Amino acid sequence: MDIMDKFLREGSSLWLRVRDQLLPSSVSCTSNGIVLLTTEYGEVFSFELAELSGEVVIPMHQTSVDGVDDMSSLTDLHEAAILYNLFLRYNQDKIYTNIGSILTAVNPYKCIEGLYSANTVELYSKHQLGELPPHIFAIANECYHCLWKRQDSQCILISGESGAGKTESTKLLLQFLSVTSQRSLGGSSQERSTHVEQAILGSSPVMEAFGNARTVYNNNSSRFGKFIQLHFSQNGNIQGGAIVDLVRQNPAERNYHIFYALLAGTHSQQKEALYLSDMESYHYLRKSGCVNNKNLDDKLMFEKVMAAFSVMEFDSEEIHDIFKLLSGVLQLGNIEFITAGGAQITTKEVLSNVSDLLGLDSFQLAELLTQRSIILRGEEISTPLTIEQAADSRDSMAMALYSQCFSWIIRKINTKIKGKESFKSIAILDIFGFENFEINRFEQFNINYANEKLQEYFNKHIFSLEQLEYNREGMSWEAIDWMDNAECLDLIEKKLGVLALINEESRFPKGTDCTLLEKLHTQHQCNSFYVKPRVTDDQFGIRHYAGEVMYDVHGFLEKNRDTFRDDILNLLKDSRLDFIYDLFERVYSRNNGDDTMKMGTQRRKPTVSSQFRDSLHSLMATLSSSNPFFIRCIKPNNQKRPELFDEGFVRNQLRYSGMLEMVKIRRAGFPVRRPFQEFYLRYKMLLKNHKIPEDGKERCTMLLKLYDGTNSHWRMGKSKKHRRGQLARRVFLQLKAK
Ligand code: ADP
Ligand code: MG
Repeated sequence: MDIMDKFLREGSSLWLRVRDQLLPSSVSCTSNGIVLLTTEYGEVFSFELAELSGEVVIPMHQTSVDGVDDMSSLTDLHEAAILYNLFLRYNQDKIYTNIGSILTAVNPYKCIEGLYSANTVELYSKHQLGELPPHIFAIANECYHCLWKRQDSQCILISGESGAGKTESTKLLLQFLSVTSQRSLGGSSQERSTHVEQAILGSSPVMEAFGNARTVYNNNSSRFGKFIQLHFSQNGNIQGGAIVDLVRQNPAERNYHIFYALLAGTHSQQKEALYLSDMESYHYLRKSGCVNNKNLDDKLMFEKVMAAFSVMEFDSEEIHDIFKLLSGVLQLGNIEFITAGGAQITTKEVLSNVSDLLGLDSFQLAELLTQRSIILRGEEISTPLTIEQAADSRDSMAMALYSQCFSWIIRKINTKIKGKESFKSIAILDIFGFENFEINRFEQFNINYANEKLQEYFNKHIFSLEQLEYNREGMSWEAIDWMDNAECLDLIEKKLGVLALINEESRFPKGTDCTLLEKLHTQHQCNSFYVKPRVTDDQFGIRHYAGEVMYDVHGFLEKNRDTFRDDILNLLKDSRLDFIYDLFERVYSRNNGDDTMKMGTQRRKPTVSSQFRDSLHSLMATLSSSNPFFIRCIKPNNQKRPELFDEGFVRNQLRYSGMLEMVKIRRAGFPVRRPFQEFYLRYKMLLKNHKIPEDGKERCTMLLKLYDGTNSHWRMGKSKKHRRGQLARRVFLQLKAK
């Protein structure tokens, strides 16, 4: 009898290696030298007993069979085990699982009874992290307590693909924090708290409607995240907040949800006043290829947006201004041109509607769209535009209007929720995960760059700080070679790095995507994090922490160049309408730096990617001064269906999230830490019949030896200095999680 036979009994569980993957399986039949193996995901494989070796079938540890709350306690340590653990739990409606202090959440796409009830909030607010099954409320509770315990700001980073449950998670965190923070308060501060939380939650439909576009692939939303800060007062209540929208590029989409909502939700009188007509008549909306009968959803969205406007106290005039602008943008898209010694507008009526809606002079507007004028030594020189150029200036104007309007709305929300100066804050970052599609473009480059930065932050905190802690405690610990992504970031960010080259080429008038690619190849082909494809095919690759991604250079320069023209700005700021005037006067004074004309120094306009980099860096600076928590949202299937776990689809997400690394790190260390005294008090009854030493440390050693004489599951640390340098000599003991 060899070892194979032992675990190849019918009903036993094992890992089956096929197609380079380990699949959780059970033995369904062994007879006549044939073994039938059924995978937990529903496939059946048949083998001859002789074919099976220790390479093909591997015993499954009981922790994998049963499933665990915390994946750092899995004994089978590989991607397949993590995947299977999530699968097992998902089938039991246990959507939350820990990896150490990191929480994964699998979107159930259905209501799970009691999961977020008031009782559950109550329960989790009374227990420490780890005492109850994993839950987003456990994270929220720990975060809230850390705010007071550690006296520093906290942040919660939520990542995942579009539809993975990030926004939902944000809402749940807000719900928990607002209930908890109000508990000890009375009267007016309670109202203030509720009010801030309401406004932040209320702003969500507006952010979604204005910030997300409808595209054939829903992965194409032009913003990649948002950052919400909750400001707490000294006595523990939320007394203000702030929302920052993180845009991954200038909005190039035209088909934002709000347009559809506007068309579906306004009544005929409003439509007339706003010159609105059918969805099909708008060039911008037809382009998306998704004009279908989603009318009901659109109407609902309109109602939600209106409700949100009212929560945030937008007055009817402001709402009307916004609608006029939106209609103006749509109409603008319908302006057409013919060539007659340069571009000429053929759609005169549309032109006059646009002028009316935006408060512009229609003659000046026509001129702006068909000619380019520059001031040269004090003289204005106009050159006619080609049809393509005219269409570009039209689209660029539409985008300028739209993005300024959106920024205005966010400013308005922020004014509304702003509190007096705050004590400490909890920030929630809702951000897109790493992307790798069939074709990856400028958008994917930016989002992946952002994720690379976040991964660096993650590494720093989870790994370096962990290691530092061990050193400080004087404990030996084999250094884990965690994936350091500094070199990859250098490739992107450093001098002459990918970003710098993109920017340089964008500023170079003759630069094209092809010349960019050449420069990238020349500069970086020897870098081990850079990939130059063997066949020349307009691509370059980067080896990100989550895997290699090939980027198609097409459109990189155009998307990176700031297409916002000065003459467009000048016209818009001359609008008769106060709303439009205010929007663009603001941009104008920002661009022209407080009226002090800097002679001769034509300031360089920032490119899209340099703006992106700057906002990313300022975000990182904020995060770096906070204590982080991580929530990783996972989408179980691409059909948005409940009760469907598409293991291939999930495996991909696990790969891109660096989850396996997390498990390794957590396991390698001693994640449970207790001060000597606390530990002793809790377990002292075990020492009943022993002579108890005087020294606290020795007492603990004695206790632990009872439990594990080999020392392999625990270590004693030194006395520990308290973080804030108050020299609170807390004595620490490290007990390895069993
Ligand atoms: P994201 O912000 O990551 O794009 P959302 O948070 O908007 O994703 O989630 C998409 C949808 O999935 C939600 O509208 C909701 O129907 C469902 N969903 C997400 N999280 C949960 C949850 N915890 N429980 C139930 N349904 C959820
Ligand atoms: Mg969202």
